Amino acid sequence: MRLQKPWDVFVAGGGPAGLATAIAARRHGLSVIVADGAVPPIAKPCGEGLMPDGVEALRDLGIAIPESEAYPFRGVRFVSEGTTAEAEFPRGTAYGIRRTHLHRVMLDHAAACGVRTLWQAPVTGLHPEGALVAGELVRARWVVGADGTSSRVRRWAKLDQHRPNTRANKNLRFAFLRHYRVAPWTDFMELHWGRHCQVYVTPVSREELCVALISFDPKLRLRRGLQEEDALAEFPELSAHLRHAEYLSNERGAITVTRSLRRVYRGHTVLVGDASCGVDAITGEGLCLTFRQAALLGECLASGELDRYQRSHRALLRRPTLMAHMMLFMARHSGLRRHAMRVFQSHPRSFARLLAIHVGEGSAREQISNGIAVGWELLKA
Ligand SMILES: Cc1cc2nc3c(=O)[nH]c(=O)nc-3n(C[C@H](O)[C@H](O)[C@H](O)COP(=O)(O)OP(=O)(O)OC[C@H]3O[C@@H](n4cnc5c(N)ncnc54)[C@H](O)[C@@H]3O)c2cc1C
Repeated sequence: MRLQKPWDVFVAGGGPAGLATAIAARRHGLSVIVADGAVPPIAKPCGEGLMPDGVEALRDLGIAIPESEAYPFRGVRFVSEGTTAEAEFPRGTAYGIRRTHLHRVMLDHAAACGVRTLWQAPVTGLHPEGALVAGELVRARWVVGADGTSSRVRRWAKLDQHRPNTRANKNLRFAFLRHYRVAPWTDFMELHWGRHCQVYVTPVSREELCVALISFDPKLRLRRGLQEEDALAEFPELSAHLRHAEYLSNERGAITVTRSLRRVYRGHTVLVGDASCGVDAITGEGLCLTFRQAALLGECLASGELDRYQRSHRALLRRPTLMAHMMLFMARHSGLRRHAMRVFQSHPRSFARLLAIHVGEGSAREQISNGIAVGWELLKA
């Protein structure tokens, strides 16, 4: 490895956050090197839904999703105990896209922008002059921790303190995911609410679905034994669609957590993506948030304004966190969930308003007025 050059930016982690930050920093003329312990394309467990705001955030980084790599969907459908509510996105198209495809698309763009990448290159520590890759010093002015939920950079930089009421274990959930060979029966992303879990289904190609189970129970699985379909047994309609489908991947687990940190930088080390915060996977907003943070960070690294990054990072996190808490509340309280589902089914406009808030459509004022309208519908029903 020839790593001697003093780089402007060293990025630990070459997932969506690391690559997006590297691209954004290059757009501001900084020299960037990314190191990741894995081999691309990286197949991290993910629900694989990219909402219209995420598509837009990616486009702002200069990346377009090739239609051939993804499957478009036009809205979200909630299904719960025989009740259904659905709405189309107010604007734009969402995509289901396999993580490996997304990674490849981002990687190609990063290479075209002049980002230097090192694979099978674990970051092993921080150093006053940069970071250590497999024990070897890489000199850099800035070190970016984009190493995911269990970030070691976060720990090394002593940035692990959470903001009040966002203790990590309080909102920690367990996810299991698998791909099925099934032609999508809908062009909506479906979220099925069960008593103890949620299952969401994202079409990722004309013959493939990504199915994600999320719950507070680490033992719950989509499928346990040969005969048992553990969690799916609660969703007979969904089970019927999947019963005879071929598996296209093994069931893989992941954790998801809603949290925010007191600080996202210390000295010349700064965090981005899941290393810097978390919103529950059920929101489908993690990637969008990551891309928005990365664009901001690229700008702030170029100007040296990490304090601005920290302030704006907090502002970016506000809406997705609110939506995550709302959905976790629905997950925990079945009575409220039933009530909300009845209202959403009988007043489709209120569900459309909720979806508009979710994807950040409209000005802050419009979002607040949409929020009040949804709250009013729920209260008066
Ligand atoms: C179950 C689940 C479902 C989700 N579904 C959706 C969804 O449908 N839509 C959506 O928008 N978001 C979703 N998300 C969120 C989304 O996956 C994350 O927000 C996104 O992956 C964050 O990217 P990241 O680059 O920060 O982290 P990661 O994708 O985790 O990437 C971190 C990278 O760092 C590398 N790394 C770690 N440690 C080191 C080290 N020491 N040295 C070098 N490299 C290292 C890893 O190899 C990895 O490549 C979901 C998340 C989960 C858990």
